[in-house]
Amino acid sequence: MQNETLRPEHTPDGLQDFRPNLDPARLMHAEGALVDKYGRRITYLRLSITDRCDFRCTYCMAEEMSFLPRDKVMSLEECLRVSAAFVSLGVTKLRITGGEPLVRKEAMWLIERLGALPGLEQLVLTTNGSQLERFAGPLKAAGVKRINISLDTLKPDRFKAITRIGDLGKVLQGIAAARAAGFTRTKLNAVMMRGTNDDEFVDLVQFAVENELDISFIEEMPLGEIHGRDNTFISSEEARQIIGQRYPLVASEESSGGPARYWRTPGSESRIGFISPHSHNFCDSCNRVRITAQGELYPCLGQNDATNLLSVLRGGADDAQLRQAIVDSMGIKPWGHDFTQQMNAPQVVRFMSMTGG
Ligand code: SAM
Ligand code: SF4
Repeated sequence: MQNETLRPEHTPDGLQDFRPNLDPARLMHAEGALVDKYGRRITYLRLSITDRCDFRCTYCMAEEMSFLPRDKVMSLEECLRVSAAFVSLGVTKLRITGGEPLVRKEAMWLIERLGALPGLEQLVLTTNGSQLERFAGPLKAAGVKRINISLDTLKPDRFKAITRIGDLGKVLQGIAAARAAGFTRTKLNAVMMRGTNDDEFVDLVQFAVENELDISFIEEMPLGEIHGRDNTFISSEEARQIIGQRYPLVASEESSGGPARYWRTPGSESRIGFISPHSHNFCDSCNRVRITAQGELYPCLGQNDATNLLSVLRGGADDAQLRQAIVDSMGIKPWGHDFTQQMNAPQVVRFMSMTGG
């Protein structure tokens, strides 16, 4: 049910105009938690700290990407200020993502400060692993609780083809470094692509089991202007059948608080997850919002409505006004996304590297 009185004003560039037009009392619990208009409590922020990356994965970026000019990207101080505002509003989990977060200059400056934020229970990171050999130790020392590492293939040539420029060896060294630094429950993320890596799902599970990792298989999402996706789409159901022929899968009630549904295989601690925006709609339990590197607050990955927090930050807002802008943004969190299997016609025109996966 859509409440028309809660619709935001929009500027011509599609961002929400910063004019509080909602009744905050309707959007906030008495104790100061963020609650959207459907009563979902928002406790999880995904913060993209750069749109840049040292890879160009085919499903995520175009070959020729133009990146944001530096002055359009939130400074690390602004990232910290926004994060602190969310934590003061009851957010307890924060994922740092990108682009590739570890290519952002001085990323550790921010991560160390986020790790020390009182009230933030889980600081976690998503990375392509290319820089982890260098950063795993400092990340652990800064209080990062868990790491997700993207890995779609174990074959070096294929890795190069998917990422266009990546080096599989470096990522495997990064995975080993995370383990050596003491990270546990590290999770691999593999995007499923028919004809590209569907012959490796079993090998990827085996790698996860042997290295005491969790693994999630992700249905490709139609983000950005990348064509020809519906030839490559594979559902979680089909992947489960392929993996189940080698590894018996037992459904698990466990949840990492996200959209993944987990299975276990006897004799292993590894969790095998499937993230299915197409075949399993997870919007009813959504507890998260995303902020892009340019300070746009997207309440939903699959919709285009956003609040421009950068203009709030740079417009001289004090902390109370910043918090108010965040509370107001709950009014534009839609019920859910609308990914269909019309994969050639993206409903959302930004790339995952913009929104932060
Ligand atoms: N660079 C880091 C990495 O690759 O893990 C963090 C950012 S990346 C955008 C986050 C996740 O989004 C990755 O696991 C990536 O595989 C996934 N991703 C990117 N584009 C996607 C798409 N179109 N559909 C599904 N997952 C996608
Ligand atoms: Fe970079 Fe991650 Fe996107 Fe690959 S998925 S291009 S590593 S941001």
